[in-house]
Amino acid sequence: HYEHVRKPEWLKIKLNTNKSYTGLKKLMRDNRLNTVCEEARCPNIHECWSERKTATFMILGDTCTRGCRFCAVKTGLPNELDWGEPERVADSVQVMGLKHVVVTAVARDDLNDGGAAVFAETVRAIRRKNPGCTIEILPSDMKGDYESLHALMDSKPDIFNHNIETVRRLTKSVRARATYDRSLQLLKRVKEISPEIPTKSSIMVGLGEEKEEILQAMDDLLAHDVNIMTIGQYLQPTKQHLNVERYYHPDEFEELKEIALKKGFTHCEAGPLVRSSYHADEQVSGASAQ
Ligand code: SF4
Ligand code: SF4
Repeated sequence: HYEHVRKPEWLKIKLNTNKSYTGLKKLMRDNRLNTVCEEARCPNIHECWSERKTATFMILGDTCTRGCRFCAVKTGLPNELDWGEPERVADSVQVMGLKHVVVTAVARDDLNDGGAAVFAETVRAIRRKNPGCTIEILPSDMKGDYESLHALMDSKPDIFNHNIETVRRLTKSVRARATYDRSLQLLKRVKEISPEIPTKSSIMVGLGEEKEEILQAMDDLLAHDVNIMTIGQYLQPTKQHLNVERYYHPDEFEELKEIALKKGFTHCEAGPLVRSSYHADEQVSGASAQ
């Protein structure tokens, strides 16, 4: 019964199909690479790829072993691990001239290490070929397996990002197999392993959460030493996904951002089109300078 919640004006943006990145899309196809930018039809793609020189690669295949109810990635039994992928990602980062790259992955619950070995190799390959590019990783919770986490942290990313996605109460209905506490523990553990690496997490709003619950999520993240928070509007990818319960006004995002900064995050991006990787290039320089 929420279908009548109409999309507000500030979300009616025209997808920019500028020529400058049609070549890059071909590069992805030719290299059999997946980006969240394309998969999620992210409205920021022109700004990110062409102007900011940043992109989000999704590695370990295009099929996820989980099926979160907000996410457009397809669910199923994934393909064989592709050990050539790390080099192909590294090459594409070079061709695109990226200054900041986000590497995320589908959840590979079928693998003992959750894909950590290929993930770590991807970070290393990018670093070897692109010494000036900062690298942010956005892994799944790897089923809370800290051995895999250690293997991943050995690759020394510049930012560790893991999303709690929503407030505690809604986690069960929004995320598949992930728990609020396991994600918080993972973030805290990263800080224990590598205190110098900034940690970051994100929530989507518009899923039926109360303001008080958002503020509680901020406190929970801070209590687990998270440095950076992003807050964006949930948008329903298809009719089979969760409904949007509410569209937040840009002023409300502004207010949430102010609260987050006052509470103690070093950076906060909040806005209708803010995604986990949005303006990530700014966060890396500021966060590592703290
Ligand atoms: Fe890609 Fe993230 Fe930029 Fe969207 S905000 S285009 S997903 S890097
Ligand atoms: Fe999507 Fe990640 Fe959930 Fe898989 S684990 S369905 S990729 S949000």
